[in-house]
Amino acid sequence: MRPTGKLHLGHYTGALENWVAQQNLLNEDGSRAYETCFLIADYHNLTTSLDTGDIYTHTIDMLVDWLAAGVDPEKSPVFRQSQIKEHAELFLIFSMLITSSRLERNPTLKEQVRDLNMDSLVYGHLGYPVLQAADILLYKGNVVPVGEDQIPHVEITREIARKFNNHYTHPVVGDVFPEPEPKITKFSRLVGLDGKAKMSKSLGNTIYLSDAPEEVMKKMRNAVTDTQKVRKNDPGRPEICTVFSYHEKFTAPHQLAGIEEGCRSGSLGCVDCKKLCSENISSELAPLLEKRRHYEANPDLVRNILIEGETRAREIANHTMQEVREAMKLGQKTISSNL
Ligand code: AMP
Repeated sequence: MRPTGKLHLGHYTGALENWVAQQNLLNEDGSRAYETCFLIADYHNLTTSLDTGDIYTHTIDMLVDWLAAGVDPEKSPVFRQSQIKEHAELFLIFSMLITSSRLERNPTLKEQVRDLNMDSLVYGHLGYPVLQAADILLYKGNVVPVGEDQIPHVEITREIARKFNNHYTHPVVGDVFPEPEPKITKFSRLVGLDGKAKMSKSLGNTIYLSDAPEEVMKKMRNAVTDTQKVRKNDPGRPEICTVFSYHEKFTAPHQLAGIEEGCRSGSLGCVDCKKLCSENISSELAPLLEKRRHYEANPDLVRNILIEGETRAREIANHTMQEVREAMKLGQKTISSNL
C-alpha cells in the first residue's frame, strides 16, 4: 500500500482484511499456511505527488491502521520500499523485460489518468507496475491479496517473472521467481460515498477506519442513494444504491434481508437505512479504534516495529538479488578481468 495517511473502508475491504486473513490462516497441522510480508510503497507515492513533506506521518498513520486491523509484526515484517535498496535495483532490471506499449495498455493507469484529470504522465508512473513486480518478486510472493484495480499489475508481474525465468536460470535454484496469483475479496472495489467512483482519498469520498461513530454518521448523511427514491415511501433499488453496497459488507445477513425488502417496498426510508448502516460500520470499527489508541500512545513501539521489519525484509531481498545476479551472470569474473 502507498502511504497516503489514514486508511479508508476501501483499503480495508479490498486488501487489509484479506491480508490479516492470509496471515492468520493455518494448515491442518497448526502451522501457518503462508508467510506474509507487508510493504509500504513510499516510492510509488512519487508517481502522483512529489510532495514528500508528510510522508513519515502518513507512513505511521497507515501502519497504525494496519496494526489496529490485526497485522501482527511478529508474523509479518512491515517495511518501507525506500529503505531496502534492492527494490530499486530489481525495478531497473525488470524495466528491460517489458515494453512501454504493454504498460500503456494498463487499464488501471487509464482509470487513474481519467479520475485524476491528468494531462501528462511521468515516466515513473508508466512503470508503476514494474516497480510493483519488483516489490512482489523480491520476496518471491506467490499470492498477492489486493483490490480489483491491482489485478492488471499482478498480471504484468506474472509476465515479467515468466520472461525473466525464460531468459535466465539459476545454477542451483533454477527458476528464480514464482508467477504470483492475485487474491481478491468479494468487496474488491468498494464504491465511494459519492456513488461515482471507487472509494479513494484523492476523490474525497471516503470513510476512514479511524472515523468515530459521529463522523461516520455525518458522512453517511451525504451518501448517494437511488436518485429515483425521493420520498420516504418511494420504492428503492438496492442493487444500484451505494449505501446498500455497504450494508452488504457490514450488516449481518438476517438484518440485510429486511433492509433489502424495506427498501424495495418503500417501508424503509433512506434516513433510517443510513443510520443502521453507520451503526453497523462503527461497530465493526470499534475494536480497531481501541487498538489504534494503544499504538498512538506508543509511537516508539510503532517505530521499532518498522525498523525491525526492515531488517528482516532486507535480508530476504538481499538474498533474492544475489540469486538474480548469479542467474544473470552479473558481476562474475570475465576472461579479460584479473578480479
Ligand atoms: P493504494 O492506496 O492504491 O496503494 O491501495 C492499497 C490497496 O487497497 C490495493 O490493494 C487496492 O486495490 C486496495 N484499494 C484501494 N481502494 C480500494 C477500494 N475503493 N475498494 C477496494 N480496494 C481498494
